[in-house]
Amino acid sequence: MDSTPTRTQVIAEHKRSGGRIAAVFPVHYSRALFRAFNILPVEVWGGGRTGNAGDAHLQAYTCSVVRGVLSAHLTGMLRDAELYCVPHTCDSLQGLGSLFLDLVDPGRPVIPIYLPRDEGPAAVAFMASELRAIYDRLAELTGSRPSDADLQRAIDRECEADSVLAAMLELQGRLALPARAFYAAARSREYLPAEQFAAAGRRLLETTVRREEPAGVPILLSGIVPEPEEILDQLDAAGASIVADDMACCGRRNYAMSTNSDPFGRMAEQILGGPPDSTRGVAVERRLAHLLSLASARRVRAAVFYEVKFCEPEAFYLPQLRRGLEEAGIKTLALEVDISERPSHQIATRIEALLETLA
Ligand code: SF4
Repeated sequence: MDSTPTRTQVIAEHKRSGGRIAAVFPVHYSRALFRAFNILPVEVWGGGRTGNAGDAHLQAYTCSVVRGVLSAHLTGMLRDAELYCVPHTCDSLQGLGSLFLDLVDPGRPVIPIYLPRDEGPAAVAFMASELRAIYDRLAELTGSRPSDADLQRAIDRECEADSVLAAMLELQGRLALPARAFYAAARSREYLPAEQFAAAGRRLLETTVRREEPAGVPILLSGIVPEPEEILDQLDAAGASIVADDMACCGRRNYAMSTNSDPFGRMAEQILGGPPDSTRGVAVERRLAHLLSLASARRVRAAVFYEVKFCEPEAFYLPQLRRGLEEAGIKTLALEVDISERPSHQIATRIEALLETLA
């Protein structure tokens, strides 16, 4: 996706055409709901050059994703956003939401999203009513009220983009691309309008050489976000091929399809029908079964858990997931990082050591 526009270009173009921008923090929300109001959701995962301006305002044990998001706000990097959306993914993001809502005026509306920590019909009904409440809030802010047909069209557009992302993930490791290039393409879903992502993703699938087998040792990559991107170069350099993704920013948002005639029920079913995710509080047994099935389908030999330091949702699941995978003969490695810092040589050495045991 060489010609993919940058975030800055996409934001400028959307604003030029009369649209609004929402800065959305991790992990789950409905893109379609925002797009139906001509609001482009642009996600902020706290990495990159956000600096450390947020550190002074948060407890030292707050994760680097939330510190990065606050830094981005404090340094004016989110100035194009006319509203913030804060899913209650974890205590840290809930804390950030409260900071914005109750303590520091961020200068724009803040929309929290409360996610059910459960699955099944009651959870879907709760999520649908939460999305309806957000619809009312967006209607109040924009003065427009998209019809159910408008919402369904917006959902269809996102489904198309999701199916292209799913095809990319299915071929991960067999597309002849460096890991960094693969993730740049997959993660452009975080800011490209769905129709642009779908077109660019289809182009990438048509034009990239496909290998019969992955070039390196097939691994599963799990965690929240593969940042800083040097970690992907380190995996490539060590001879690993990421063939299965379980990142919150990517594979865990390989959402389900739904044909519900109620757009709010449809959006809710899609989000809650996605792969089991620690940040949605899904049972560890379901997480493990999902990882085992991914590992078996892609002939994974090792799983790398690339975790953000102080990320409680992930930490709670890690011991059982590692044990379950090891019992199935899959080696595991857990790395803990601050995404605002470059990965250390020690991390590269640990990855090399893991792969040597599989040679
Ligand atoms: S890294 Fe973990 S603790 Fe930090 S925002 Fe994401 S889910 Fe929350």
